[in-house]
Amino acid sequence: MNRLIVISNRVSPPTGDGPGNQGGLAVALSAALRESSGIWFGWSGEETDAFTGHINFQRSYGVTTATVDLEAQDVEEYYNGYANCTLWPLFHNRLDLAEFERGFAGGYERVNDRLAETVAPLIEDSDLIWVHDYHLMLLGRNLRARGVNNRIGFFLHIPWPPARLLESLPGHGELFDAMLDYDVIGFQSENWRDSFIEYVQGHTEATIDQNGPDQNGIISLGERRAQIIVCPIGIDFAEFHEAAHGEVARESCRRMKRSANGRTMIVGVDRLDYSKGLPERFLGYERLLASRPDLHGQLFLLQIAPPSREQVRSYQQIRATLDSLSGRINGEFADAEWVPLRYINKGYPRDALAGIYRASRIGLITPLCDGMNLVAKEYVAAQDPEDPGVLILSQFAGAARQLTDALIVNPHSPDELAEAIDRALRMSKKERKERWHSLMANIRDEDVRWWQECFAKALAGSPV
Ligand code: UDP
Repeated sequence: MNRLIVISNRVSPPTGDGPGNQGGLAVALSAALRESSGIWFGWSGEETDAFTGHINFQRSYGVTTATVDLEAQDVEEYYNGYANCTLWPLFHNRLDLAEFERGFAGGYERVNDRLAETVAPLIEDSDLIWVHDYHLMLLGRNLRARGVNNRIGFFLHIPWPPARLLESLPGHGELFDAMLDYDVIGFQSENWRDSFIEYVQGHTEATIDQNGPDQNGIISLGERRAQIIVCPIGIDFAEFHEAAHGEVARESCRRMKRSANGRTMIVGVDRLDYSKGLPERFLGYERLLASRPDLHGQLFLLQIAPPSREQVRSYQQIRATLDSLSGRINGEFADAEWVPLRYINKGYPRDALAGIYRASRIGLITPLCDGMNLVAKEYVAAQDPEDPGVLILSQFAGAARQLTDALIVNPHSPDELAEAIDRALRMSKKERKERWHSLMANIRDEDVRWWQECFAKALAGSPV
C-alpha cells in the first residue's frame, strides 16, 4: 500500500470524542492515513511573526499530523482574503460579494507556494498525494515545480462555478491551468463537473475525452492529463447511526419533544452563511404562516445557525438581515403562548443535533448553492424508521443529485417553500417511510468511507 499524504488548509486529527462528534471527513481521512502510515499536512491555524516553515509533528490516535504557522499577512490575504472573500462567494454564485484584490491573489499564490516548499521534503517517491479544497488549488503546480512527480489528486468540496461567472475572476486562466497539474480532479456532483467541462470547452485549448461510461472524462493539454471524477462525500454512517442511538441524542430528543409541547417541529441547521438560503427560507415560512392561519400555534421552525467567518463584512450583513427578519416574523405572528420561529446563533454537538433531527417532522435544508450539504444526510440518518420525518431539500445542494426522494424545491421561491412544507405536513406515514427507505439506502451505501475509497482508487490509477 502506498503511503498517503493529505494536504488541506486545516488539519483535524482524531480527538477521541464520542461517536458522531468528529466530522465524517476527519474520521475517513484519519482511517486512511492510519492504514497507510500517512501524514496530514496543513496550516496550524496559528500565526507567527515571520514564516519559518518549521513543521510541528504530532501523533494522535495513530495519525501523524504536520502543521505550520502562517504570518498574519498570509492569513489576511490568503485565507480571509482570496479564499473567503474571492473564491468562496464566486464559487457560490455570489459575484456581487466577491472581492478581486491583487493583494489577495498574491497572498494566495505565496501561501500555496510556502506550503508546497514546506511539505515537499516530506514526500517520498511512492507516496500518493491528496490535496483538498479551494484554498489550495495551486498546490499541485507548486509541487510539480519542485520536481514532485508523484500522483497528486485534488478534491473540490465546494461547487465549481458556471464558466460565465468564473470569467469574472482575474487570472482564471492560470488558475485553471494549474489544475491540470493534478492527475485526478474530484467533484461533489455532476453539476459542478459539468461547469468545469463547460469552462474547458469554452475557454481553453485543452481537449476532453468523455468516452468512458460515466461521462467523467480525461482532460489533456500538451503532455498533461487530468482525470475528472464525480465522487460525492457522505457521512460516517456507522458512527452517526451509533451517535443517533446514544444517550446524548436520546436525551436531546426527549427534551426537544417536551419543549415542542405537542407542536410539529421543523428544523434547519446551517452555518450562518449567505450560501445557505436562510433569508429565503424564513420568507417561505412567513408565506406559509400568512396564508395558513389554521397552522398558527400548531408548528414552529427551529433554525440553528452558528455564526462563522465573523470578521468578514458579508457575514455581518447576513446576520443583521436574519436578526431583523426573525424579529419581524415573530413580531407579526407570535402570541403569548406561541413563538413560530426559534432562531438560534449557537452550535450544537453532532450527537445532540441527531436527537433534535429525530424530534422534528420536517428537515428544511434549502441552500442557494452548496457543494454537498451533509446536514441533509445526517437528518435522514437520525430518523425513527417507524415514524420518519420528511426532508425538504434545495435543488441547488450537491446532495440533491443523490437524495432524489426528498421533496426537492427551488429555494428562491417562497411559494414553493410554503407548498413543500404544507405537503410534508400532510404526507402519509406510508409515503414518509417509502421515501425514507430510499434515502437511507443511498446514505448508507455512499458513505464517507465509500467516498474516500472511490477517490483513493482513482488516485492510485485504478478504474473507479
Ligand atoms: N454542525 C455541527 N453543529 C452545529 C451545526 C453544524 O456539528 O451546530 C455540523 C453538521 O452536523 C455537519 C457540518 O457541521 O456535519 C456541516 O456540514 P455541511 O456540509 O452541511 O455544511 P458546511 O458547513 O460544510 O458548509
